[in-house]
Amino acid sequence: MTKFPIDKFKDLETPFYYYDKKVLDATLDTLQAELRKHPGYHLHYAIKANANIDVLKEIQRAGFGVDAVSGGEIQQALDAGFDASKIVYAGVGKGDWEINLGLDAGIFCFNVESLEELRIINSLANAKGKTARVCFRINPNVGAHTHANITTGLAENKFGIAMEDMETAIREADELSNIEFIGLHFHIGSQILEMDDFVALSARINELQDRVEAQGIVVKNINVGGGLGIDYKDPDANPIPEFGKYFDTYAKNLKLREGQQLHFELGRAVVGQMGSLITRILYVKHAHVKKFAIVDGGMSDLIRPALYDAHHKIQNLSNTDTDNVEVYDVVGPICESSDVFGKFERLPLCHRGDFIALRSAGAYGEIMACQYNCRRLPKAYLM
Ligand SMILES: *Cc1c(COP(=O)(O)O)cnc(C)c1O
Repeated sequence: MTKFPIDKFKDLETPFYYYDKKVLDATLDTLQAELRKHPGYHLHYAIKANANIDVLKEIQRAGFGVDAVSGGEIQQALDAGFDASKIVYAGVGKGDWEINLGLDAGIFCFNVESLEELRIINSLANAKGKTARVCFRINPNVGAHTHANITTGLAENKFGIAMEDMETAIREADELSNIEFIGLHFHIGSQILEMDDFVALSARINELQDRVEAQGIVVKNINVGGGLGIDYKDPDANPIPEFGKYFDTYAKNLKLREGQQLHFELGRAVVGQMGSLITRILYVKHAHVKKFAIVDGGMSDLIRPALYDAHHKIQNLSNTDTDNVEVYDVVGPICESSDVFGKFERLPLCHRGDFIALRSAGAYGEIMACQYNCRRLPKAYLM
């Protein structure tokens, strides 16, 4: 689907992120259309996936809210024009200034991850004469079939409140003067492609709902978090995730109560496929056993391969002659052996100056860039 405007790339300093506006808009259109089929469903875009201001403005215009995990993200969402009443805020370690920012802005809710945090939010809200709306993030002990570093819903993870402690938390919230309990929140992990994982989460939520209902507790909102994955292997075949299937999975399996609202926090699935890291080949190095394509982008620009063993599809944009290929390790310039984008990559013959695209890099790419080796941060262009 993505067609790269190489002529425009020639004037830009590499590496940079290219965000394909057509793919982003098509993704947002699909999301809107699928959500319209389910009244009572709300999307809060997980801003940690990509907080680029131009991208955020598109998402804001589409009418979605934001899921933030820090005060900085709340501020960035407000700066992009998002309505505070559509911002939810999770995180195991919310600082006082971050809680105060959320209270002052009047965000929709705090997704609270411990009783200790609940009490601090109550006292900070009390000092301002405000009431904080809270959901409890419950750790459902549901595994997701994804990389171990990105599962979050197991008992061993640091996130959320244990299921056993759920009623205690809700009762304590009821007693606190400046807290309003409005719902339950879950998030089991990221890059999940098996709908069965969401079926398992739904089943667990159904159990928990029966339990609280038996005690006369009213839950107005259920938030199932995010985690829907994307096709890193073939972004052109699947530029838009299967949102329809995803929402239908919840519609079929999760038993909502009368008037209950269902919230989603998708990040990667919204922005992943629109983005590519565009880098140029500096050298084709002929070593004894291998050929290396050394590019000017590295793990400081796109850390996912080094951090999660992720693989981004590598494409030579300057030479598309697939009848004449060679095998390369594609590596960056950074002084770390893990600064590798791909090993044994079959690519059309590579030359100094060729544009290389690392595909599906719209999520957890630009936002994770750092200045290691005193490098410049990559710029990003939505076009
Ligand atoms: C990271 C995160 C998300 C988004 O995850 P994706 O896999 O990008 O959809 C949603 N909710 C919470 C609480 C998160 O931490």
